[in-house]
Amino acid sequence: MAGFGFSIVATDVKARAGTIRTPRGEIRTPAFMPVGTAATVKAMLPESVRATGADILLGNTYHLMLRPGAERIDRLGGLHRFMNWDRPILTDSGGFQVMSLSGLRKLTERGVTFRSHIDGSRHELTPERSMEIQRLLGSDIAMCFDECPALPADRDRIAASMALSMRWAARSRDAFGDRPGHALFGIQQGGLDRDLRAQSAEALTAIGFDGYAVGGLAVGEGQQAMFDVLDFAPSMLPADRPRYLMGVGKPDDIVGAVARGIDMMDCVLPSRSGRTGQAFTPRGVVNIKNARHADDPRPLDETCDCPACQSYSRAYLHHVFRAQEMISGMLLTWHNLRYYQRLMEGMRTAIAAGTFAGWQDDFHATRALGDIEPL
Ligand SMILES: [Zn+2]
Repeated sequence: MAGFGFSIVATDVKARAGTIRTPRGEIRTPAFMPVGTAATVKAMLPESVRATGADILLGNTYHLMLRPGAERIDRLGGLHRFMNWDRPILTDSGGFQVMSLSGLRKLTERGVTFRSHIDGSRHELTPERSMEIQRLLGSDIAMCFDECPALPADRDRIAASMALSMRWAARSRDAFGDRPGHALFGIQQGGLDRDLRAQSAEALTAIGFDGYAVGGLAVGEGQQAMFDVLDFAPSMLPADRPRYLMGVGKPDDIVGAVARGIDMMDCVLPSRSGRTGQAFTPRGVVNIKNARHADDPRPLDETCDCPACQSYSRAYLHHVFRAQEMISGMLLTWHNLRYYQRLMEGMRTAIAAGTFAGWQDDFHATRALGDIEPL
């Protein structure tokens, strides 16, 4: 496809480092995508998100179609202009969130009808409408409309859901059409079942996509079950296309996924945690509301180059969190997003150097130390 491409620059066992090229800029992989649900990464200016090292954002079709509406965003020049982010944007299909957030859903072969969780208004999402919305938003990477059952579910339910998602993948491909410079990713389903995952990968590969997501994970199955699937699922997908693990995850989930051949991830965790006083550091999670920080003049993470760590003390971060000042969410979100991007930078460098196994040992050993001793 003209204007969109993927090249792998290094591999280390199963881990890959590479570059996705789009007309709006390059995405270094493994890539972490901050989530901009409602056309904003909460508490962050777009230029601040970029300063953390993010090459691409994720936007949510379900939220944006309900408020402010896809046609409105299109009239206002598209999502990039609307939210003042000129780099790549990936949009999900709305399929996952319509099942998890909306009320009174009805699922048929055609699609899903539902009521908005905001005002109760009635809407429909089909593969065709999802592709139209993602086109109106101006998304650089669109996702197929799919259905994802919550786990645990019995095999028949997962098999039927996967088959429906593959029929919807074909309809998504047809509706997306040929759009140079824009990509459409297929989504592998099949729960934890190896045979269903293989059938899904075969169906998607026959249709042909610009990239492939491993879907249906991080839905309550636990890390070990997710890793067990990632031990076989990514290699079922074409090696020369980006592989995206949707909605993952905690730092050790991300490291384990990259080690198993995943190239892209997204998660609300760094931004959401930033607003609840949880900070990610190489030595694990710091709960800034803990009283032990009240008199601590040291930075949150002395190895971090973000504004929260360069210019403020733990005591200050503790104070503004306790006082419910807005700067608390701003600083901790910035720090967490920077932590995630430093994690990705570290993995890209290690994969390129062929030292990823040792890097992983260091990552786990440093986390095992726990937070610095109280003063
Ligand atoms: Zn920091």
